[in-house]
Amino acid sequence: MAKIAMLIDLECCVGCFACQNACKLVNNLPDGVIWLPIMPKEHKPEEVNGKLYMDRFPVPVTLDMCIECPDRANGHEPLCASVCMGKALKVGNPDELLTMAKNLRAVVFTK
Ligand code: SF4
Ligand code: SF4
Repeated sequence: MAKIAMLIDLECCVGCFACQNACKLVNNLPDGVIWLPIMPKEHKPEEVNGKLYMDRFPVPVTLDMCIECPDRANGHEPLCASVCMGKALKVGNPDELLTMAKNLRAVVFTK
């Protein structure tokens, strides 16, 4: 059973890189290391409802790091999600996010 999930709302994500930069900051990642790459949509892992609307959106390398992410460990929304102006990114319970995704054009990554 999945332990964690990340949802990207494809209608709200503008591919702005804020989540990627937040992840680098909060995890103190060295130059060149990215845990949340912003990928062009042709690298999409999944297509939902037959369409994708964004040119690019974040795709986690792995969600292993998100389980131990500092903000989440303290019971808060992780910085990648809280900086997202469009509220396009959510990290949390797989069942909740998969249910939420049914009403959205979204991709959900689970681990
Ligand atoms: S998920 Fe939010 S912060 Fe990340 S690229 Fe999309 S709009 Fe920007
Ligand atoms: S939850 Fe934490 S580790 Fe995972 S992408 Fe967001 S900031 Fe990075």
